[in-house]
Order: sequence, then structure tokens, then C-alpha cells
Amino acid sequence: MKIIDNIKELKEEIKKLKGSIGLVPTMGALHNGHLSLIKRAVNENDNVVVSIFVNPIQFGINEDLDKYPRQLKQDAFLCEKERVDIIFAPKASEMYSDEKNNLTLICPPYEVVDKLCGKSRPGHFDGVCSVVAKLFNLTKADKAYFGQKDAQQLFIVKKMVKDLNFDVEIISCPIIREADNLALSSRNQYLTENDRKLALNISKALFNIKKLFSEGIVDIKALVDVSLKIMEGLDVEYIEFADRNTFNFQTKADRNTIVLIAAKVPESKTRLIDNINLWE
Ligand code: AMP
Repeated sequence: MKIIDNIKELKEEIKKLKGSIGLVPTMGALHNGHLSLIKRAVNENDNVVVSIFVNPIQFGINEDLDKYPRQLKQDAFLCEKERVDIIFAPKASEMYSDEKNNLTLICPPYEVVDKLCGKSRPGHFDGVCSVVAKLFNLTKADKAYFGQKDAQQLFIVKKMVKDLNFDVEIISCPIIREADNLALSSRNQYLTENDRKLALNISKALFNIKKLFSEGIVDIKALVDVSLKIMEGLDVEYIEFADRNTFNFQTKADRNTIVLIAAKVPESKTRLIDNINLWE
């Protein structure tokens, strides 16, 4: 496995590869969620590139860019075990020769970014799309693997690929959870013991919605009310019901619904996101 930190060398190595290329874009601090994407990429491609890059242009000014966990050595160990071919782990200065306001960015339409995570994180998805587009160009990936954990991101990246005719297939991978249903996230490292206990109520609320829906309850207000009770003690940023095909908000739950939650835990103030679909 090669660990590459510069664009010139990455391009040279990509040129040498024979067969298909799978890309797994990450910000590192790899956990079993990331590893599920990596395993699938290794299964489905002749070559696999994992990018590890804490992308500064997708972070807002008051967000956790500086404290975001960075553990390249441990990440490299995990990737090597999965038989990844290349880790691309550039510095920010290698990826961006200029300040964000002086870069050419990809900006998804207002309609898809002015809601859910995009609402509290203005510019976030411009940063995500721009780095993902750069990674597609640099790696010439045939397939790229994204987790449903970041459902709005997945929707927006798929839309970008369609709208801009990128020659890459986006593979969406299911959410990996702890035994107690907490969705795995690199940010779980921030949680205090008490935060973690409260954080469990996010997935509890989502699974409860799925159960109530299976019993015939489709009234969103009723489903939201009971969920907010379950999540008492958390600072809920949003709980929304969206159509999986458009990401438009719905008036009634149905078999195309994805339910999305973002909430902050009280002690570490960590912002967590999770979602569940009502079609499986
Ligand atoms: P991140 O490093 O948080 O940017 O995540 C990199 C990729 O891993 C994204 O496509 C995420 O959606 C995906 N991912 C993160 N956590 C999980 C999880 N618990 N299950 C499945 N995929 C995940």
C-alpha cells in the first residue's frame, strides 16, 4: 500500500494502475462504518484508493476543524489490513492553493442545500462537492463509495454526478451501528459517558418511528411529538421527513420516506446526525 500526500505522485500512480478503480473518500479516524465502504470497494474493484483529508472548506468558522481527530498511522494500519492500494492523505495546502473565497467551487442548488444540515452549515455542501469533484478528477475512479449515514450528502453528490456528467458510479452503503444502535461516527470520540447515553435516544427515536409507521401511523406531527419526547435532554436541530427521490419535505410518511435527525448532546456539544428509511 502506498501512502501519498501530493497530487503529482498520485497522478503518476493512478496512471500506472490497470483495471477498475474504486474510491472511498473519508476524513479519517476510520471506524467500522468507513471499513464497510472500504471492504465493498475492495470486493468490487481491481484497485482501491482511500482518501483521508479533513477538508477545511467544508467546515464553518465555529466548527470542529481544529479538534477533528487525526490518526493517520492507525488509519493506514486498518487500510493495509483491508488490502487498500493507495491512501491519499494530502495537506490542505496541497489541495487548495488559495483561500475558499478565491477558489472555483461547485455549488449545488439552493433548493437542496437550504435545508437539513445545509441550513446550519452554510457553504458546507459547496465544500463537500468541490473536494469530491477534485478527488474524482485526481483518482479517475470508476466507482465511489458513500455512506447513507450522510444521506443529504449522498443525495447531493449523486445529483452533482448526474448534473455534471461525471464518469463515476456512486455506490451507497448502509449505516453501520454499534450493538446498541448508535450510528458510528468519528465524532463519537468526543462524547462523554453521559452524552453517549443521551445520544442513544436519536436512534431510539428513529427506530420507534419505523415501528409506528409499520403499525400504520403516517401523521408526521404525531411521529415528531413522540420522537421529541424520546430525545428530551438533547438539543434537536431538526427532525424531518423527506422523499428519498427529491429530498422534498413531506406532509405524510410513506414508503419513500427518509427520516433525518440532527441533534447536539449537552456536555461535549457534539453535533450528531442519523437517519432511517421507511422502505426496507
Ligand atoms: P467521513 O469520514 O465522516 O467524512 O465519512 C466518510 C464516508 O464514510 C462518508 O461517505 C460517510 O457517509 C461514511 N460513513 C460514516 N459513518 C458511517 C456509518 N456509521 N455507516 C456507514 N457509512 C458511514
